[in-house]
Amino acid sequence: MKELYEKFKSLTKADLLLNENLSKHTTFKIGGPADLLAIPHSEEDLKIIVSELTKTKTPYFVMGNGSNLLVSDKGFRGVIIKICGAMDKIKIDESKVFAQAGAYISTLLNQCAEKGVSGFEFFAGIPATVGGMVAMNAGSWGTSISLFLKKVKVLTKNAKTMELEKYECDFGYRTSKILQHGSIVLEAYFELEKKDPQVIKSRLKEILKLKSSSQPLTYPSAGCVFKNVGAESAGKIIESLGLKGESVGGAKVSEEHANFIINTGNATANDVRNLIDRIKGIVFEKKGIQLVEEIRFLGFE
Ligand SMILES: Cc1cc2nc3c(=O)[nH]c(=O)nc-3n(C[C@H](O)[C@H](O)[C@H](O)COP(=O)(O)OP(=O)(O)OC[C@H]3O[C@@H](n4cnc5c(N)ncnc54)[C@H](O)[C@@H]3O)c2cc1C
Repeated sequence: MKELYEKFKSLTKADLLLNENLSKHTTFKIGGPADLLAIPHSEEDLKIIVSELTKTKTPYFVMGNGSNLLVSDKGFRGVIIKICGAMDKIKIDESKVFAQAGAYISTLLNQCAEKGVSGFEFFAGIPATVGGMVAMNAGSWGTSISLFLKKVKVLTKNAKTMELEKYECDFGYRTSKILQHGSIVLEAYFELEKKDPQVIKSRLKEILKLKSSSQPLTYPSAGCVFKNVGAESAGKIIESLGLKGESVGGAKVSEEHANFIINTGNATANDVRNLIDRIKGIVFEKKGIQLVEEIRFLGFE
């Protein structure tokens, strides 16, 4: 790993951290060390890193803000490429919005509100990057980010850049072809609509208020753990079985929202994993429903 570190150091401007604890990079505040964590500052940096990792057959994983990840206590043997807080340019021209993958969705929302561009308001409170949201097709309350997407520029596994039209991305419920093919979102183009900035800002406030009264936002978590089951809310299913407050070690089913597992302070990845398995087991036994995780696992066998 030291060799790769030296190589990336000489060829790129990326921030490079050896043996970096991933608990510092996930909203769960859980996760052991990655051999190397690289934060590229440009598309060129990223291309060099991906080409080299492919050439040397080094395992790698791309993350955004780590808000949908459960990383194992052992961490990740390989390189984490974190696209967040750099590669984060945003341009807004009338109702057309361009954003690089590393931009925070909260920054994008605020800039859109300032310029009177409406559409993303439901995404208020999601602690994600544009790249993570597009790859996952994240969304809230019936809308998802792909609704506003026109096209997206990606870096493929063999380090080639490509522009994909929306229809080429096969967006589904919390999934896309980008995610399935292991491509990397570089930038995204959206088309929204113009509205009075004051109307957008008060809508944002309202949505944030609603979310903070129904979600456990003061505890570390990764948002909703399970996908909804058709039109049925996974949270409601879990709640109906009296599982709010159920815990394993430091991991607990939130009392505010049963589809959130919170880290009450010292939860390990194993605690969360065991709690997930317990919930799945009970839901299957009592309701015959097989819950499927929305969160993504990293570094588990
Ligand atoms: C408090 C809280 C509230 C939340 N609310 C919602 C909600 O309302 N709706 C919702 O859908 N989700 C919600 N989430 C979950 C999470 O924010 C989303 O899934 C989001 O899309 C993850 O973005 P991220 O940048 O953190 O990606 P990460 O968690 O870092 O990664 C998630 C996945 O995306 C991939 N990925 C990340 N960046 C890229 C990239 N540039 N190119 C290709 N792949 C990439 C990763 O490989 C991984 O598979 C919430 C989470 C929290 C903690």
